[in-house]
Amino acid sequence: MPDDATDDAVRRMMAPEVAAGDIDLSVGEPDQALPSGLVEAAVRSLRAGRTGYTPKLGLTELREEIAGDIERASGFRPALDDVVVTLGGTGAVAVALAAVCVPGGGVVIPDPAWPNYRVLAERLGVTVHTYPQGPGGDGMIDLEAVAAGLRAGARLVVVNSPSNPTGAVASAAALRALVALVREHRAYILSDEAYEAIVFSGDRAASPLAHGGHDVTFSARTFSKTYSMTGLRAGALISPPEFRVAVAALHGTTAGCAPVTAQLVGIEALRSLPDRGRDLAAAYRARFERALSALGPWAQDVSLERLGGFYLWVDARRTGRTGNDLSDRLRERGVVVSSGTVYTATDGFLRIALTADDDALDKALTIVREVLSMDGTTDER
Ligand code: PMP
Repeated sequence: MPDDATDDAVRRMMAPEVAAGDIDLSVGEPDQALPSGLVEAAVRSLRAGRTGYTPKLGLTELREEIAGDIERASGFRPALDDVVVTLGGTGAVAVALAAVCVPGGGVVIPDPAWPNYRVLAERLGVTVHTYPQGPGGDGMIDLEAVAAGLRAGARLVVVNSPSNPTGAVASAAALRALVALVREHRAYILSDEAYEAIVFSGDRAASPLAHGGHDVTFSARTFSKTYSMTGLRAGALISPPEFRVAVAALHGTTAGCAPVTAQLVGIEALRSLPDRGRDLAAAYRARFERALSALGPWAQDVSLERLGGFYLWVDARRTGRTGNDLSDRLRERGVVVSSGTVYTATDGFLRIALTADDDALDKALTIVREVLSMDGTTDER
């Protein structure tokens, strides 16, 4: 079964572009434009001839801004030496996995999860264990299942809050408990914080960095989502001090450095728009509410206070159809969403990115509801 999840994830990476006219709710790409002040920063930097390499670990000014942003959000300020500017969150996750994983070792990942963890771990020859990811709050991380993976030899536990694909946000207590467990097993945490600024309660998501775990936590971060700059490719990895050399070697040899334009835009972003995530969260919360009511009986039963990000995870198992079948049928009607099989081996889920304006979303969600209900399956849960 896990192979299927990998196959679907890789097939999605290789999928052709979406047809013109389709409503694409399949990619984690904010539909808001890059803020104009950041466009200006990019243009200014190019006109000033800033097109060369930066230091491998990134511009010092940016690394300082990133450390400051983490401190603002969490109260914990990482040492500059432990902050590396990466090729987006993707680069941060890849470097952290490669730094800890050794062939024959193991990693524990959430189920469901963003596919990169599994795809890369399998390529690195590492055994993948999973823990069922619960709804947000204290119960998000199944510590029993994590402990089983650690006893089986895993050295790294991945947590992703807010989650792609479910939106669940972990409580600080859940993260503190994870830190204690990981410490007991001399293992590490990879906290993927790609959506940490987009939390519907209006707060920033808790990080294990600030809950007793700074020396056992890799924090993977990105400018992509909060600042609508997915294609500029800048993120950051905060690492436990003992991994400084491994991280520098892996990032330096695979990325060279993050793109200079993105780094300069990143500095401007953190200086001029520190609360951008909160504004986005308010916008996505409103879309979520709209989407849940449009989906009617297919809406998940969740508390928005414990959700974030911009994905709606739809449990369509009672249609009796597969995620691939449902997403094919939606594509035929001009709506592109992700089959849940990209994220989990349990079939019958869809992931819908709420990354379109209200009119497009209303249109798309009406079609989703029709397709899910086509066999007369509309009973309330
Ligand atoms: N982590 C998660 C959970 C994601 O969903 C994504 C993007 N879809 C990323 C990391 C990385 O994004 P990027 O490389 O654009 O920063």
